[in-house]
Amino acid sequence: MAKLLEGAPVAEALTRQIKEGVDRLRRFGPVPTLAILRVGERPADLSYEKQTRRQCESVGIRVKQFLLPENSPRQELLDAVEAINRDPGVHGCLLFRPLADKDTERAACALLAPEKDVDGVGVGALGAVFAGEGAGFPPCTAQACMEVLDYYQIPIAGKRAAVIGRSLVVGRPVSMLLQQRDATVTICHSKTRDLPGICREADILIAAAGQMGMVTADFLRPGQVVLDVGIHREGGKLRGDVDFPAADAAAEAVTPVPGGVGRVTSAVLTRHVFEAAAGVSLQRQQP
Ligand code: NAD
Repeated sequence: MAKLLEGAPVAEALTRQIKEGVDRLRRFGPVPTLAILRVGERPADLSYEKQTRRQCESVGIRVKQFLLPENSPRQELLDAVEAINRDPGVHGCLLFRPLADKDTERAACALLAPEKDVDGVGVGALGAVFAGEGAGFPPCTAQACMEVLDYYQIPIAGKRAAVIGRSLVVGRPVSMLLQQRDATVTICHSKTRDLPGICREADILIAAAGQMGMVTADFLRPGQVVLDVGIHREGGKLRGDVDFPAADAAAEAVTPVPGGVGRVTSAVLTRHVFEAAAGVSLQRQQP
């Protein structure tokens, strides 16, 4: 049986550290504050907002809502982003996506000040992740993968990693973060040939394709560490991109779904807000 890399202890350890940091900061500095910028009332957004708010409050981070009705004119959203950029009392911003209009979403993400971009949605923050310098934070899910590896003391330097998925939310940024820690990374996608073979060679396999159960026994081998980023709902249950029984049988360690990487993502968001308030930039990540 594979070792279970549960997210809860990782999130709890992070939460403890962040709370200590926030307590210290609040004694002589600002109250770290996250702006939540939401357009409309989609149930998934409302539920994520509730969870984010609870996580922020648990560590002493204040949340300020910026709400716009669905179908708001593009300029109203851009004005809200400008207001957040200008507000010295706001240190980070979480923009709920996807938006109905992709162009508007891109413009809003690009407008957000990189130092307040705590979920790495803008080209400025992503550029910093890729270039290894500049202001900004990596997308929280990508960083959550790194936190899981570090918490469980999984060596990264010199290891072969395969990442399935090249989105800007997970696949590409986590590939960059792994590469900065001296892994040799293969970024796989829907056109990759011999995906199972490439994945089998990896010491660290990160599944972020958004295809339920696609990582089957032929992708896996003994000694592998498998991180499952996928989230899918099936018959009221959550499942990942990895066929869990197959990974449990073959791999050395695997994250569960639910209760794996997803459990760590919101803790990472609060750390980014704390760091934004404390004036810590992405440079801390560099070797
Ligand atoms: P996406 O759809 O934007 O990107 C998927 C990527 O996977 C694409 O690059 C595509 O080329 C690749 N892909 C798709 N099918 C493939 C296949 N059969 N073989 C190889 N590559 C394939 O998705 P995303 O936003 O990156 O999210 C990926 C998954 O992670 C989703 O299930 C999503 O729900 C989940 N997710 C989880 C968290 C979390 O906190 N745990 C956060 C964000 C996303």
